[in-house]
Amino acid sequence: MSDEERMKSGVSKEYRNDKIIVRWEPRLCIHTGNCLRGLPQVFNLSARPWISITAADADKIAEVVMTCPTGALTYECPDSAPLEPKTEVVKITERPNGPLFVEGPVKIVAADGTVIKEGNRFSLCRCGQTQNRPFCDGTHKKINFRTTE
Ligand code: SF4
Repeated sequence: MSDEERMKSGVSKEYRNDKIIVRWEPRLCIHTGNCLRGLPQVFNLSARPWISITAADADKIAEVVMTCPTGALTYECPDSAPLEPKTEVVKITERPNGPLFVEGPVKIVAADGTVIKEGNRFSLCRCGQTQNRPFCDGTHKKINFRTTE
């Protein structure tokens, strides 16, 4: 399945060793590059697979996964804490000329009551033009969306 097909279906890819499982959901990734800058020996777009799960220790990988603002990257550790640590207070941060970064725990619910997604980090569309509602898909850059004069 191509990345484009995965994006449409919401499928996530899984990378695991005996210490950590990292999941990447392409449709949520807006290519901020935090992971690439944070741990380039693990997150490398030129490599296949692009995540080398054995190239750093699990704690360091978890630390960098937590910097992914969109929730495209998540992790769990099979032998220790079951899931990522959760913040107690929900924080929503306006990005200049960009989306709203949400830090949870958060449950996103559709108008009909269906749960769209639960998690700790999301990037929500602010320009209104995303093709992946309610999530940001990076369209704000293409349309030169501005929140300031
Ligand atoms: S940090 Fe998250 S949103 Fe940014 S490029 Fe990596 S996976 Fe994508």
